[in-house]
Amino acid sequence: PAPIVGGREIKKWVSFAIEDLKVKNALGEGSYGQVFEGFLRCTDGSDERVVLKRVKRRVEGAEEMNRMEHLLNVYAARSARGAVADFLGYCEVARDQAFGKLTEGVWLVWRYEGSRTLAAYLRRRDCLPALSRELGVPAEAVAATVLRHILEGLAALHAAGVVHRDVKPLNVIFAEEAQRFKLIDLGAAADLRTGTNYQPDESILDPTYAAPEQFCLPTDSPHLARHARPLAMAMSPLLWGRHKPDLFDSYSAGLVFMQLAVPRLRPPGALRAFREAMNACGHDLAAWRARERPPPAQTAALDAGGGAGWDLAASLLRPRRIAELDNGGVVFIDAGRSGAARMSATAALK
Ligand code: ADP
Ligand code: MG
Repeated sequence: PAPIVGGREIKKWVSFAIEDLKVKNALGEGSYGQVFEGFLRCTDGSDERVVLKRVKRRVEGAEEMNRMEHLLNVYAARSARGAVADFLGYCEVARDQAFGKLTEGVWLVWRYEGSRTLAAYLRRRDCLPALSRELGVPAEAVAATVLRHILEGLAALHAAGVVHRDVKPLNVIFAEEAQRFKLIDLGAAADLRTGTNYQPDESILDPTYAAPEQFCLPTDSPHLARHARPLAMAMSPLLWGRHKPDLFDSYSAGLVFMQLAVPRLRPPGALRAFREAMNACGHDLAAWRARERPPPAQTAALDAGGGAGWDLAASLLRPRRIAELDNGGVVFIDAGRSGAARMSATAALK
């Protein structure tokens, strides 16, 4: 990518000068941070449209979350470029430098990818025709195409040892220049090579799209970040091989795919009901289908190709067998022995 020149290339990626940043209107606000649109002055004098994120200083733990998100973005920018929105760098604003919206703290800066997330498309009545136009594919290929974009992003993150842990339509953005969907928001991601942003007994923040097992590794797994880096990096491949933490993201991608393919499942309440029904069916999509009998008009994208979409969705939504520990944690008994395992992003792409 054409890097923005200027700034200093250092360990935390590129540091920008305060006078080169302009903060404009707010794009969104979560419980920990605020996201703004803005501009970054490049050395050639042009202004690059950017997205800026800053944590709320009064929320406990927010600074630490910001630091984790920063580290994960630096790592992903190096090792999984293109898989997620382009991270450009950061700007540290001291108290006496703050002015206007550029308040004290560390600001993270990304390239502005586009104005619409997948959530915005899913809310539209003309969701499929609109996506069909954007993506340049026939309406019946939309669900598979968007899923492919998500899986490609995930496959790259997983290959780098990162689990996203918050795959959902709000965190999938249509990148206008690349004409494709990209993942954003590594705020909940875990680097399972080094243990950055990973606590074995801490489950995810937003359960809406999270896999039913809730954890990406058994809760009695080693606390990687507390070990010396070489030891953590030696243990990590064993954990990946044994427990396949990336399958956590596969499940979320499967849910998003179902919402794209089956219009009825798009409203939040319908998604909740789908999850409950799947739970009651032992996470067996064929059983859900037999029970709910969705009309063919709702399932065209899944029925095509001899029901290929059904098979793919079923393989992403399969359960991981888990056992509860006395202390309330979980271990994965087995991901494979019980028959077919949930599919990885790479396998699903094939
Ligand atoms: P949060 O931690 O609040 O969820 P996100 O990183 O998901 O923060 O960003 C919040 C919103 O800001 C996104 O849902 C999206 O609408 C917008 N956004 C974030 N990053 C970008 C980007 N690179 N380009 C365009 N819009 C973005
Ligand atoms: Mg988000």
